[in-house]
Amino acid sequence: GCGDPILRIQGVTKQFGGITALDGVDLTVDPGITGLIGPNGAGKTTLFNCLTGFHKPDDGQISLYETDITGKEPPTIAQQGMVRTFQIPRELADMTVFENLLLAPMNQHGERLLASWVRGEQFVEEEQTIRDRAREIAAFFELDHLLNEPAGSLSGGQRKLLEIARALLTDPDIVLLDEPLAGVNPTLEQKILSRIEDLVEDGYSFLLIEHDIDLIMDNCERVVVMHQGAVLTTGPPEEVQSDERVIEAYLGGD
Ligand code: ATP
Repeated sequence: GCGDPILRIQGVTKQFGGITALDGVDLTVDPGITGLIGPNGAGKTTLFNCLTGFHKPDDGQISLYETDITGKEPPTIAQQGMVRTFQIPRELADMTVFENLLLAPMNQHGERLLASWVRGEQFVEEEQTIRDRAREIAAFFELDHLLNEPAGSLSGGQRKLLEIARALLTDPDIVLLDEPLAGVNPTLEQKILSRIEDLVEDGYSFLLIEHDIDLIMDNCERVVVMHQGAVLTTGPPEEVQSDERVIEAYLGGD
């Protein structure tokens, strides 16, 4: 049913040389919007990278719905329905917003589209669908007037919207957002949050890392607190906020 957990994470461990970045992460992520917080070095980004296949966990298990995705490659995990956002790489800053939007889904359909192109086919239905969807999502994020501008010319906030739009074009169930509001002005910040809420209404789920704890507490249905490579606690914002261990993790140092 639709209330089933999206993600089940059990005992996920990741070491870098002598550093234990993740030390047995146990976590269940339900549909909706979940905030992930924790002091610097708690392991938040490493967890994102393990979930989406950019790092291989040393130990533990990750299931997306009923599928074991542990150690799978990023494209396979994306195909299963989970992606993370990325900053627009410098090489793509000269490409237009529209072209940037097309890249991820075109890449996902790679060989089929390439085959049509190699065969010299004039019209590829899939490509048309991708272009239509890119325009639709751009309009949803109010980026449609910028479709022909180079991605590098966007403001910080517009760039964040483009990053989320790119992720959505791979047709995910859950999107992992790494600081989607960092460096964004308050007006655009509210716009991004309200777009995310709309998408949750439409059935998408989000797990987001954010350093501004007030933003997390005000906008997330559930909050996960990481500390020293493990999950310290998880629950509704009001519960987590008054948890002594959370207060200590933030204020008591390591
Ligand atoms: P921040 O909020 O500062 O981004 P974080 O919670 O995202 O922190 P991580 O970036 O996941 O934490 O880092 C967890 C630990 O793993 C840190 O001690 C970090 O130095 C280490 N680490 C992360 N990635 C690597 C890597 N590629 N090589 C070596 N050490 C790493």
